[in-house]
Order: sequence, then structure tokens, then C-alpha cells
Amino acid sequence: MVREKGLEREKAWLEKEYHNTLAELERLREVLRGEVEMDLDEISPDLYERDKTMALIQSLEMRLDSIKRALRAIEKGTYGICERCGAPIDPARLEARPDATLCLKCQSELERIVKRRRVKGEMGF
Ligand SMILES: [Zn+2]
Repeated sequence: MVREKGLEREKAWLEKEYHNTLAELERLREVLRGEVEMDLDEISPDLYERDKTMALIQSLEMRLDSIKRALRAIEKGTYGICERCGAPIDPARLEARPDATLCLKCQSELERIVKRRRVKGEMGF
């Protein structure tokens, strides 16, 4: 009966993931705020931690963005279609990454660009 039976599952996953990611993001921002308010004398050993936290926040923000885009695509009925080139995304890829909004080819092109920009510290992309 329900035509988008498969997508309901993806949608539920994405919504849950969205809330989890958002909660984690807020927690990390809180951590970052705490570190900013810290005594300046103590800054040196924690500078590295701060960098790590910021890199993590950045990658979570990207993740949140892709989850939002995937949810929007479900609403628009374009879920499973590459945002960049319009080719269908491999179902196996969607199975592994329901928030994927790009086909493998476009994703790896994008990753190359991102990697060129920041050489280290990426996660989950
Ligand atoms: Zn593509």
C-alpha cells in the first residue's frame, strides 16, 4: 500500500541520526565554550584538544548538513539521486550511508577537493 515503504525506514534513521548528531554538536560546542573561558595560563596543553574538538565540530556540521539534505530529498522525491550529476546513487551505498546525497563518483571528487584543502583531521566524510 505505502509506496515509500523503504524510505520510511531511511527517514526514521535520518531523523534519529539528525537528533543524535545535533546533541553531540551541542555538547562539543559546550566543551569548546568551557575551554575558551579557561585560565590563559593553562592554554598550552589544551590547544591541541581544542583543535581536535573544532575539527570534530566541523565534521559533525557537515554530517548534519548532509542529513538535512537527504531528508529534504525524501520530501522532494529526489532521494537516491545524486545532487550533483543527477545519476542514481548505488542502493548499496545508500544502505551503508542513508545520508548520502551524492553518487560515489561525485563524492570521491568532492573528497579530493576537501582533502586538498585540509590535509588532516577529517572524519566520517
Ligand atoms: Zn554524481
